[in-house]
Amino acid sequence: MKSLIVANWKCNPTSLKKAKRLFNLIKKGIKSIKNTEVVICPSFVHIPILGAFVSTRQKASFCRLALGSQDCFWEGKGAFTGEISPLMLKDLGCRYVILGHSERRKYLIETDEMINKKMKKVLEFGLKSIICIGEKKGEGFDILKSQLQNGLKGISKKNIKNIIVAYEPIFAIGTGKSCSLDKVLSVSLFIRKMIYKKYGRTAAENLKILYGGSINKENAKSYITEAGVNGLLVGGASLKADEFVAIAKRCGIRTKISKIS
Ligand code: PEP
Repeated sequence: MKSLIVANWKCNPTSLKKAKRLFNLIKKGIKSIKNTEVVICPSFVHIPILGAFVSTRQKASFCRLALGSQDCFWEGKGAFTGEISPLMLKDLGCRYVILGHSERRKYLIETDEMINKKMKKVLEFGLKSIICIGEKKGEGFDILKSQLQNGLKGISKKNIKNIIVAYEPIFAIGTGKSCSLDKVLSVSLFIRKMIYKKYGRTAAENLKILYGGSINKENAKSYITEAGVNGLLVGGASLKADEFVAIAKRCGIRTKISKIS
C-alpha cells in the first residue's frame, strides 16, 4: 500500500505569505516521489488559499498531495459560534481531518466522546479521519485501548476503510525523543489486533497506521520498514520544507499489507 505522510503545521506559520511559500516548496519537492500520499494540514485560515494549489489530476503511481485539517466540529451547520464544519472543509478541498490530537485533548479538554461525534460527522460527509491516540510516560496499553474503542464507538465496518489511526505517544511529541521502534511495533500490532477483533481480517490488514513523535529525516524510514506502520504524522519537521521533503522521499516505498495470523 502507498505510504501516507501527514504534515501537521499546528498553529504555524503566522503569515499567509510564509504558509504559501512552505506549501509550494513542499509541493515542488515531492513531485517525483512514488507510492506516497502527502497530506498537508495547515491552520483553518490558510486552507482556502492553499486548496487552490492542490491538483486533482495526478498520476496514480506518483505522489499525491492532499489537504487536511487539524480538527473540525461535530455538526454540519448551525448555531455553533466559532466552529468549523466538516462540510465547509470538504467544500474547500480537504480530504482528511485529524481528530483527537493530544494537544487538543490537553489544552481544549477534548474527550473521547467529542472525538467520536466529530469522527461520525467527518465520515458522514465522505472525508477520511486520522484519529490520534497516545499515552503519557508510564501509562500502559489500557489508555490506548480506551481511546481507540471510545473513538470508534458506533463506526460501521463499511466506514473503517476511511479511518487512519495515528499512534503518537505524548512523551515523543515535540521533545526530540522519538519512541523506540520496538514499542511502536508492539503498539501497531496491538492496534491491528483490536481492529481485527471488531471489524475482521481485511479491515485489520488494510488499516493504515501512522507513527508521530519527533520524526526527522534520519529516523523516518526505520519506522516504516521496522515498526509495522504505513506512514508518519510529522509536526515540527513539517515546517522545514527541505526536512519534510527528505522525510517523504525516504518513506516513498510501498508498505506491506500486514498479515494477521
Ligand atoms: C505532532 O504534533 O503530531 C507531532 C508528531 O509533533 P512532532 O513531530 O513535532 O513531535
